[in-house]
Amino acid sequence: MTKTYVTGFLRIGKERELKKITENYFKSIISEEELIAAAKELRKKHWEIQKNNNIDYISSNDFSFYDGMLDTSFLLNVIPKRYKDLPVSELEKYFAMARGYQKNDYDVKALEMKKWFNTNYHYVVPEIDEDTEFKLNGIKLFSEIDEAKSLNIDTKPVIIGPYTFLKLSKILVEGKNWYDYSDKVAELYIEILQKIESKNVSFVQIDEPGFVMDLDDISKKEIISLYNKILSKKGNNKILINTYFGDIRDIYNELQKLDIDAIGLDFVEGIKNIELIEQYGNSKLIFAGVINGKNIWRNNYENSIKILEKLNKYEYYIGTSCSLLHVPYSLENEKNMDKEYLSYLSFAVEKLGEIVDLKEIDSMGNDYINSNIYIENQKIIQNKKNNISLINSDVREKVKNVENSDFYRKNEFPIRKIVQNDYLNLPILPTTTIGSFPQTNDVRKIRKELKTGQINGETYINLIKEKIDNIIKVQEDIGLDVLVHGEYERNDMVEYFGENLSGFIFTENGWVQSYGTRGVKPPIIIGDISREKAITVDWIKYAQSKTDRIVKGMLTGPVTILNWSFPREDISNEEMSYQIALAIKDEVEDLEKAGIKIIQIDEAALREKLPLRKEDWNKLYLNWAIKSFRITCSGVENKTQIHSHFCYSEFSDIFADIDEMDADVITIEAAKSDLKMVDFISKFNYKKESGPGVYDIHSPRVPTEEEFGEIIIKMIEKIGKDKLWINPDCGLKTRGEKETYESLKNMVKVANKFRN
Ligand code: GLN
Ligand code: ZN
Repeated sequence: MTKTYVTGFLRIGKERELKKITENYFKSIISEEELIAAAKELRKKHWEIQKNNNIDYISSNDFSFYDGMLDTSFLLNVIPKRYKDLPVSELEKYFAMARGYQKNDYDVKALEMKKWFNTNYHYVVPEIDEDTEFKLNGIKLFSEIDEAKSLNIDTKPVIIGPYTFLKLSKILVEGKNWYDYSDKVAELYIEILQKIESKNVSFVQIDEPGFVMDLDDISKKEIISLYNKILSKKGNNKILINTYFGDIRDIYNELQKLDIDAIGLDFVEGIKNIELIEQYGNSKLIFAGVINGKNIWRNNYENSIKILEKLNKYEYYIGTSCSLLHVPYSLENEKNMDKEYLSYLSFAVEKLGEIVDLKEIDSMGNDYINSNIYIENQKIIQNKKNNISLINSDVREKVKNVENSDFYRKNEFPIRKIVQNDYLNLPILPTTTIGSFPQTNDVRKIRKELKTGQINGETYINLIKEKIDNIIKVQEDIGLDVLVHGEYERNDMVEYFGENLSGFIFTENGWVQSYGTRGVKPPIIIGDISREKAITVDWIKYAQSKTDRIVKGMLTGPVTILNWSFPREDISNEEMSYQIALAIKDEVEDLEKAGIKIIQIDEAALREKLPLRKEDWNKLYLNWAIKSFRITCSGVENKTQIHSHFCYSEFSDIFADIDEMDADVITIEAAKSDLKMVDFISKFNYKKESGPGVYDIHSPRVPTEEEFGEIIIKMIEKIGKDKLWINPDCGLKTRGEKETYESLKNMVKVANKFRN
């Protein structure tokens, strides 16, 4: 009979214990010893729940106080000197790398964070410099094996593989590539294997998600020689090379030739993995990832069994497609959810049950069809399919009827620009903000009181209106040209639209780690999406009624709403995106009808879900993502100005696509990246208007007039005074009021100076 495994379990705990204990430690409410003890308790719970659910191969070292890449940096002693030199404990150095350290005379910033492949999880980027001295440091990897053993639980230690680690590291030494460090790192992995050998573990799991990305010939050669080195000294260890988030088309054959014992393949996102096996054969034990570690739907056993049937020539184990880090803990935490909906879902703990179910029915041969497990599962899948409350035939019809003309505005930009200049009558270098103003405690309190029923809807509306009155006045006093209503009614730019559109549901406790102690609670797209009534129009209309200046409407775009939600699995992302786009389109047109002259549609998350392989970018993503955006604004008149905002500065590779989105004005991040973006816009010969953020809102610092002056003059030189907007680089929601108003005052003052 086959066996079951879990790639890695989540770390935050059933009640987000990890968040609580670490934050208490940060606030000095508990000591380092207490933190360590509490973490040990948490690991115990997580191992036991897997064991009690009959998982055969459970991981150790999947726990982390902050992040697994950071743990690996620590293990390999890739610790920049500025942290090494701090006069604090090892654990404090670790947290200093994650969060920075400001105490006494020390002021070191945190290491950079980046998104982990195509997930919403962030890892701490390792930094390799001249001083880096690779050596083994710390014992976590080894001690967790013993810790589990003492609980009578055998684990397979998991470690991030040398290629993925080096490839994702920032190398600060001129002219060096990742593979210039592979000899050093290979030695360390050999040392690690030697240390583990005596512990008698089942497998050593080496995670190499980097293998699912594009690999050129040099990388492949280097990877193979790196692994040959390590594997020649593997001793009695059994090695599992584990991959996830995609297929390994570029390196499948080479891996098959390595002296490894098992290979972990993702059969959920790895669309080509089955083909690769069928085409080239296989000589390894397969860790078959069929349970989706990234989504929250109950597994359709029919699909999974079909995949397993294709593997029946080989030995395989059944498990998760990737770590369960990316899903919430358990449905047990959802007390108020509709029972029917609940039955469609499966969080981390429920997924353990699914893995074991699959093992069971997999052992029945063709009889599985008559097994209770299978019948029950198919009943739920059918119920969901037949649940007419999730189907909106109008929307489906509308999506089907989308045609080419739905992607085009009335005229092209040059014509629109002439009409808009006339209609909007803005000065050159118009000043504006990205949408939200500081969400101070009073605003959160108002929203909370509405939720708990302490205040009624009418009181709520009046309180928010007071906030709008105030912020309109503040913006007029500062002298901004295009005002916003401040987004006080929104908790989160995606949740807000999810709550106001049909087709979404929300969890009470569906927290997923985003980074360190931070979590997100993504909405779930459960059915067809539609807009029953206008969402933002009353608020924006109200704000506009309070001023003679232009107030811009503020919406979240379809791609961002989709990317920050748990998507359905039964229809394509493209179809979901079009459904949302059609809803937002109606909102855009209602805003226009209400006299709103400028409408911003944020696509903050557009870049995040770019497929991992370049050849898939257009076909699998950008093609429909861009069309979705275009749908939202295809119905407005030439005079109405469409803005869009993007939250990052790495643009060069998708700038042509951003241009294709056809917004009249884009605002983007630029201040943090030495204005590289501004150079790029200029070289690209971008014809439309843009507002590369003139300051970084992620810091509380108030930039001086001189600083604004220097930046703005450069932007005018590169972009031209007739195409340039002056604005911060993102929403101001998380900032304090004082620093925000002071920064904006300086910004406007300098813009006015240039204007005159
Ligand atoms: N309009 C949003 C805001 O200002 C945009 C947020 C974002 O880009 N993440 O808050
Ligand atoms: Zn932003």
